[in-house]
Amino acid sequence: MRVLVPVKRVVDYNVKIRVKADQSGVDITGAKMSMNPFDEIATEEAIRLKERGVASEIVAVSMGEAKCQETLRTALAMGADRAILVETSAELQPLAVAKLLKAIVAREQPGLVLMGKQAIDDDSNQTAQMLAGLLGWPQATFASRIEIADGAATVAREVDEGIETIRVRLPAVVSVDLRLNEPRYASLPNIMKAKKKPLDVLTPETLGVDPAPRLEYLRVEEPPKRKAGVKVGSVQELVAKLKSEAGVI
Ligand code: AMP
Repeated sequence: MRVLVPVKRVVDYNVKIRVKADQSGVDITGAKMSMNPFDEIATEEAIRLKERGVASEIVAVSMGEAKCQETLRTALAMGADRAILVETSAELQPLAVAKLLKAIVAREQPGLVLMGKQAIDDDSNQTAQMLAGLLGWPQATFASRIEIADGAATVAREVDEGIETIRVRLPAVVSVDLRLNEPRYASLPNIMKAKKKPLDVLTPETLGVDPAPRLEYLRVEEPPKRKAGVKVGSVQELVAKLKSEAGVI
């Protein structure tokens, strides 16, 4: 079974981002970029499926500027077999990514698309669901455990009330949550080997997809600044302040 793993290049999770003065977006000039953490987890899970003999080939795919090749090389160094870059300078929104992935699925015929539950830059949490909808495939989102047997995936899902376990027929789209696994670091020899692994470059045009944005960003705002706290001298003073000043009791 071939597993397709979409990996997005995003601002590194350690970077403290700032909203631009004109509120048109966030300023990422010169920021460190990395693979979306949830996509690292999806890549790791695909590798474990291959190590267990369930998957035969892992194809990593990224969409965006040429620099996404770095992200794909990371996936290859972790253990993906080959990579596809859909190169475009267009602003890609979840629907466009889902349409591009659908076109890649048509070419690659994977038995499973394993992807992040959300990209930490736009926090959309839409692409997996849209892709499953466009393909007419079953979906299992927020996976914290995945078992594959008899042409189906049994997936434990993290939901508000606890863990829900569902079975979906393959081919399917599965999006992964934080607790699924702990991704491995690529070793130096594997980083060197990854440089020689195949990486194909396509464009939205060759895939017959119009990636034009459908949503317009109106404004991006910083969260309100938190006010400084005060130290109280006693429990009595705390209770009094909660009653008179905060009005919460
Ligand atoms: P989102 O719906 O934007 O929160 O993204 C969910 C998942 O879709 C990510 O974790 C990736 O697996 C995939 N994805 C989104 N955008 C891209 C992209 N530009 N290239 C590759 N994968 C992407």
